[in-house]
Amino acid sequence: MNFIETRGNDGTRPERISFSEAILSPMSSFGGIYSPESLPDLGNDFLERHLNADYKTLARSILAAFEVDIEQQVIDQALDLYDHFDDPGNPAPVVKVKDDLYVSELYHGPTRAFKDMALQPFGVVLSSLAQARNEEYLIMAATSGDTGPAALETFKNRNNVRVVCLYPDGGTSDVQRLQMVTEDADNLKVIGIHGDFDDAQSALKMLLGSASFNARLTEKNISLSAANSVNFGRIIFQLMYHIHSYLELLRQGAIKLGEKVYLDVPSGNFGNALGGYYAMKMGLPVEKILIASNQNNVLSSLINDGVYDISDSSVIATTSPAMDILKSSNVERILFDLFGRERTKELMLQLDSEKRYKLTESELAQLQTIFSADFCTDEEGKKYIQDTFNDGYLMDPHTATCFKTYQTRRHKPLKTIVYSTAEWTKFSPTIAEALTGKSGSSDIDALKAIAEKANIKIPAVINDLFSKKITQDVVIDKADIEKEIMRFLK
Ligand SMILES: *Cc1c(COP(=O)(O)O)cnc(C)c1O
Repeated sequence: MNFIETRGNDGTRPERISFSEAILSPMSSFGGIYSPESLPDLGNDFLERHLNADYKTLARSILAAFEVDIEQQVIDQALDLYDHFDDPGNPAPVVKVKDDLYVSELYHGPTRAFKDMALQPFGVVLSSLAQARNEEYLIMAATSGDTGPAALETFKNRNNVRVVCLYPDGGTSDVQRLQMVTEDADNLKVIGIHGDFDDAQSALKMLLGSASFNARLTEKNISLSAANSVNFGRIIFQLMYHIHSYLELLRQGAIKLGEKVYLDVPSGNFGNALGGYYAMKMGLPVEKILIASNQNNVLSSLINDGVYDISDSSVIATTSPAMDILKSSNVERILFDLFGRERTKELMLQLDSEKRYKLTESELAQLQTIFSADFCTDEEGKKYIQDTFNDGYLMDPHTATCFKTYQTRRHKPLKTIVYSTAEWTKFSPTIAEALTGKSGSSDIDALKAIAEKANIKIPAVINDLFSKKITQDVVIDKADIEKEIMRFLK
């Protein structure tokens, strides 16, 4: 399986690279990214053959179908990390919530959000590749809360990879901040920035584009890679759970083999949804992929109106902050797959220069054969959390956005799989407010209030954070980031 560039080739890079090369350096010509040249076809009997396969067996078969150039022993070691999820046999349980609504819970890993599903195995794969080549890599991440903890957790004490994680001081929840600042390993650096997430992200972009910073890294023999979902090494581990969820519905007797389902995905950078798209193209029986946005509704506008417009919008802070995104990186891979690289380059460069692009009518029609979308406001989300709790199911505000699309965009009476991307413990103040009506609680008070109301325990990994030693206490101005990183890399 080869990877090619979404915006075509500029003559300075290889036109085609392998899976491992795409993982090590995900950026391609003209600011594009690498995407698969073709997708494997699962074939007719794949689902039937894997009806009784456990998650790791299914994952091995999918990686084999992609013919990834990773040694089997590394793959096995990577997949063994799923053994540390709540249920070692099933890292992503699927729970029936209504007659035709099932929730696929992707948050049972160490940091209690769905980023672990892909980042856990990805950490092993990247570190092994770096070791085999005797190269040193630096991963830099700006986080609004979930990617940071998951990236730190997976690379902690791994060889040949160092991680620098920038977060907006005061811009994450207490739990998310504690998950980062209590991480204690020599290869990890966590830096708080005076400012908001956009400041952290633009500081990161400036560094990545800085010739002097890159020269200093080269001097130290350190290469840059990425752990966000532009890296296909994450996407491949995100298409598996869509296939797994379908198999779970079969095993639970909810559907018959071949019956179509809706996949209902809370979307930000579109990695989760892209995984569903690839699974569908590989042969998973999917009616449509429902895209749930919050008030930052660029994705739902694209899918409903064919217009991607960020010209007069700034990011709105919502109660589903992991979806507070305007430039959604993985949409590019959909454009590439549907419309080819010439058109993708044209649209993406237009987005850079004019902050807007518009699809043609036939392009929009094509997009709408696969996706349908809506957005959910914070108030609506709160109501869904409340109502669904009264029906006996506790969910987080990201998951709640899917209940809007479920209500408005499901035009056939088919089973729907809603993807739950975070445990209640990660966004507890919003949930506590929905359940008790009391707003403005700190994380710890909100956790206690929910635990009491729902008669459940606060998981130890969350509770222990509040008494753990803070080892990463740097909070600085944007201007001092480079100096701080060079000190860490000494
Ligand atoms: C990252 C994240 C999302 C968005 O997922 P994408 O793959 O970026 O679309 C949604 N919910 C939570 C809790 C997340 O951490």
